[in-house]
Amino acid sequence: MPVTVTDYLRPSSLKEALALLAEDPAKTIAVGGGISVVLSGAPRRVRAVDLQHTGINEIKKTKDELCLGAMASLDDLVKSPLCGKFAGGVLCEGLRTAATEPIRRLITVGGNIVQCYYWATLPPLLIALDGRVHLRSVEHRRTVKASEFFARPPMRQLDRGELITEVSFPLLPKRVAAFEKLAKTSNDYALIHVVVSYVPKRGKVSDARVVVAACTNLPVRCAEVESYLEGQTINFAVAKEAGQLATHHVKLRGDFRASSEYRRRVLPVLVQRALLKAAKKQDDFITNR
Ligand SMILES: Cc1cc2nc3c(=O)[nH]c(=O)nc-3n(C[C@H](O)[C@H](O)[C@H](O)COP(=O)(O)OP(=O)(O)OC[C@H]3O[C@@H](n4cnc5c(N)ncnc54)[C@H](O)[C@@H]3O)c2cc1C
Repeated sequence: MPVTVTDYLRPSSLKEALALLAEDPAKTIAVGGGISVVLSGAPRRVRAVDLQHTGINEIKKTKDELCLGAMASLDDLVKSPLCGKFAGGVLCEGLRTAATEPIRRLITVGGNIVQCYYWATLPPLLIALDGRVHLRSVEHRRTVKASEFFARPPMRQLDRGELITEVSFPLLPKRVAAFEKLAKTSNDYALIHVVVSYVPKRGKVSDARVVVAACTNLPVRCAEVESYLEGQTINFAVAKEAGQLATHHVKLRGDFRASSEYRRRVLPVLVQRALLKAAKKQDDFITNR
């Protein structure tokens, strides 16, 4: 249901935005790209704090991390050379499939992960690449691992008056990763997202992440598949077995786009494809080292 905006506030710094949120947290909402904020929650009267001019849109690399400001748009990330070079370019590969370019220019990092519709593209990438979510309010700062952040609906993870300022990914250990999306058309809402990543060690898999989303309410890691892959060399048979295992512990959603039975039949194929794609990148990774 739509919200009614009583005041539209445009702070020019993060400090000012946090102060505005702290004044009346129950009746104040943050606005990222503004695509879904007007529809969030029950109808109510709110003050809107537009984060556009708060300066938290930087994409940067530090000694240890790739950092993406909460107000960077998905299109900024797709076009960023820093994102392109990270983990074999999987961020760009995945985010390029989200919506259309004009919509990607509006969707922000912060809005995408707080709203976290089941089709959201960034959350499974964040989990698979060991991402961290950085939050801040007037009183405190904290950092949460993406796997914990998405364990329950992100809106409920935020304290009153708290904002996401940034997400970050560790640069080491270097991971190979691959992304797969199933949708009716190339930029339609996803029916299934799969993101896999691992650290290659002497040709074998170490520290695997297999994340499934869009066919579940929140993105989930497939622990059983991850344990199965540990120490394996990925080939067709291993990827196929991993695909079959992926459906075991995942509660698949059914909706008007696709039934849970359909998703259960297709998910193994996507996991298999993602693993074989990652293995191909691993060969390039070793060759280019
Ligand atoms: C046709 C269409 C297709 C789409 N397809 C995709 C797709 O394939 N993949 C995909 O990922 N998305 C897709 N989207 C976008 C997605 O559905 C959401 O609308 C979008 O992620 C919301 O981002 P936003 O920046 O506009 O957030 P907003 O609408 O501004 O905010 C969303 C929520 O997050 C809160 N919020 C925003 N920023 C912050 C912050 N920094 N800190 C704390 N809280 C914050 C707001 O208060 C609000 O509750 C699509 C949208 C459309 C219209």
